[in-house]
Amino acid sequence: MFTLPKLPYGYNALEPYIDARTMEIHYTKHHQTYVTKLNEGLAELPDLLKKDLSELVRDLNKLPEQVQKIVRNHGGGHLNHSLFWTSLRPGQEGNGPDGKIMELTNTCFGDFDSFKQQFSDEATKLFGSGWVWLVKDADKLKIVSTVNQNNPISNGQDPLLGLDVWEHAYYLKYQNKRAEYVEAWWQLVNWTEVGSRLK
Ligand code: MN
Repeated sequence: MFTLPKLPYGYNALEPYIDARTMEIHYTKHHQTYVTKLNEGLAELPDLLKKDLSELVRDLNKLPEQVQKIVRNHGGGHLNHSLFWTSLRPGQEGNGPDGKIMELTNTCFGDFDSFKQQFSDEATKLFGSGWVWLVKDADKLKIVSTVNQNNPISNGQDPLLGLDVWEHAYYLKYQNKRAEYVEAWWQLVNWTEVGSRLK
């Protein structure tokens, strides 16, 4: 069975950028529901419940057809949120990458500010519910977006950092002002973790 991973900090740890109430609902209701529905959906194929979640989502098209949608939506939801919580840490003004990840963002996007601008633009223009990602694609870093709970790993790209732009991620505090949520979120990115995913 898949289980909800422990949150690496308290609900209020990301204040004032992400409020405690949003964190609590997002984690205990939304993320938990993806885990529950994934387990329910795979109940008749128990061998799949023992597999690694990243492998299931990566090899989506090789799965029996009747569970592909479950794994895409609820497996993706579980994987995406597990990546999301560990991509964040308590806020720091002037937060940014260092080391290898900084070198690569400079090479692929010009400089950190250009990267940040492109990523934020993608996040504010994404229509409906989905995610924006920094991915490693062969030797390059790219910014891509996915709809619903799709994960770029299904397209052969390795996710390094993902931003949840579903309304449930920000509506209580920011209502329709997605751009303000995106701007606040930059203070929370755990670049040490992103750097270790690159390795
Ligand atoms: Mn979410």
